[in-house]
Amino acid sequence: MPKTVQKPHEAEEEYFARLEVEKKCKISEKKRAEMAQKEIESLKKIHARRCAECGQELETVVFKGIAVNKCFHCGGAYLGREAFQKLCGRDNHFMNLFMEIFQFQS
Ligand SMILES: [Zn+2]
Repeated sequence: MPKTVQKPHEAEEEYFARLEVEKKCKISEKKRAEMAQKEIESLKKIHARRCAECGQELETVVFKGIAVNKCFHCGGAYLGREAFQKLCGRDNHFMNLFMEIFQFQS
């Protein structure tokens, strides 16, 4: 079988085709990343300040420096990271009082 000899213009054509494919791959990856970011932002807009259980709006109640996001529809209460860390550093008396006020005890 005769060996195929690539003419100079064919090598050049192949080179530019590879460049174009690489460039379009990068554009496609960038679009995918942007879409993922848009979806994250869209979900954040929909769920911000909403109860994870029932979707109703949350109200913030500050108790001894700890902000509690309370749902007065279903009774859920949510803490941000900072509030949770503050709460974990408190004593049992405080925790019992907190649980009583925010109605976590049955
Ligand atoms: Zn709720």
